[in-house]
Amino acid sequence: MKRPVLAANWKMNNGPTAARTFMNTFLASYPPRADRTIIIFPPAVALTTVASATANREDVLAGIQNIHWAEKGAFTGEISAPMAKDAGARVVLIGHSERRHIFGETDAQCAKKCVASSRAKLAFMLCVGETIGEREAGETERVVTRQLREGLSQTANLISADLLIAYEPVWAIGTGLTASAGDASAIHTVLRSELCQMIGTKGDEIPILYGGSVNTENAAGLLAAPEVDGLLVGGASVEPASWLTIAQT
Ligand code: PEP
Repeated sequence: MKRPVLAANWKMNNGPTAARTFMNTFLASYPPRADRTIIIFPPAVALTTVASATANREDVLAGIQNIHWAEKGAFTGEISAPMAKDAGARVVLIGHSERRHIFGETDAQCAKKCVASSRAKLAFMLCVGETIGEREAGETERVVTRQLREGLSQTANLISADLLIAYEPVWAIGTGLTASAGDASAIHTVLRSELCQMIGTKGDEIPILYGGSVNTENAAGLLAAPEVDGLLVGGASVEPASWLTIAQT
């Protein structure tokens, strides 16, 4: 198995004050580990807090939940990849299902965000996943393959160790429903094969994380599944106690 990646997506939780308390509590109980990588995606206003707290930790990285594809300009409320990097981000989350389904983000926009992240020399984690309707219609493989190929359509020639993929079935996010370890493995295997078709054997090195109602009870089983190289965790990552358990899985 690859060195696992455990990623916390705080969504719109933990502003700077709560983030500082969280990081103090978490890092006090989580000494450096060489056998895994932790990524914390706080809200953008808490990015510098998390980045400062992890400045001397190579195994714990700060990330940003979203960026705009332009470097700067008249885009009120947006944050560019170079700005995120300047604030301490090491990784960009792209195409999270809440961005796609609440804010209407398209595959084409995800592709531009992948380019922007690469240009800024930031790692990025592209999220893919099907809705319940798509799953019931037997469309899962077609949907995740399309999201992967279109998302990476302009960066395939740049891809290196700085790419991560997260498979997050939309029906499993924040619902308490989780894909079985077998279902997650099956889709990860499809994604792995697509990656290898796109970029050859380098595709074998790219971590593919599972996300969707991961908690302290199911994390170990999912992480042990073939082709599951890590976990992307929303709700159960917001409090230090549950996150600490998952980070140590
Ligand atoms: C997520 O936000 O990426 C996620 C998987 O959320 P949750 O763990 O709450 O389902």
